[in-house]
Amino acid sequence: MDGLRLETERAPNGIVLGEDGLFRARDSRRDRLRLETFDLHDSYVVQFINSTDDDARAAFLTAYGCLFPGRHDCSRKAFFGLQRDMRQLLKLAGADEAKDRANALNKDYKLTEQHESDAIVSAMADRGRLVLQVASLFGLMRQECMLVIDRGVRFDTCDQCGIAYLTGSTTSRKSHAQYCSPRCRMRSLRARGAA
Ligand SMILES: [Zn+2]
Repeated sequence: MDGLRLETERAPNGIVLGEDGLFRARDSRRDRLRLETFDLHDSYVVQFINSTDDDARAAFLTAYGCLFPGRHDCSRKAFFGLQRDMRQLLKLAGADEAKDRANALNKDYKLTEQHESDAIVSAMADRGRLVLQVASLFGLMRQECMLVIDRGVRFDTCDQCGIAYLTGSTTSRKSHAQYCSPRCRMRSLRARGAA
């Protein structure tokens, strides 16, 4: 597989968290949106699991649309559960051990039973590349985890700030990078220098 595609829609005026604990669109306006993944430089799945506060979660849904087709309302609790599942899946997919990567595939099969709306709807040849079209944003992120396995990409978290990132082939980082960014690397060096 070379790439992934999703035809979806987003609420251009934003998703907000209500006092009832539901993320929902401010109004009924929807814009069509196409999301694609070819490299893992700035994957949706990493952005999703790094959305660790409610503003970031609302911003993610505003930018990329609903996680499942047509379901713009999502409870905070459900969002947490989906982030937890996806983090586990990505961590296994990007693990060093072959046994863990195999468990990522097993976990993905289980998720298929829970989320019928994630289906792959088309496998097309596009300028010599195999592109899978998926039915949901959650499904797109699951397939990004499969790309991680396919390309031998590694999952890691930054020693300095704790955010998740990927290293290796078609990511922007060398394998075994210890920090998410040059900025965190510099911060850590300075902290060590001061100690
Ligand atoms: Zn960092």
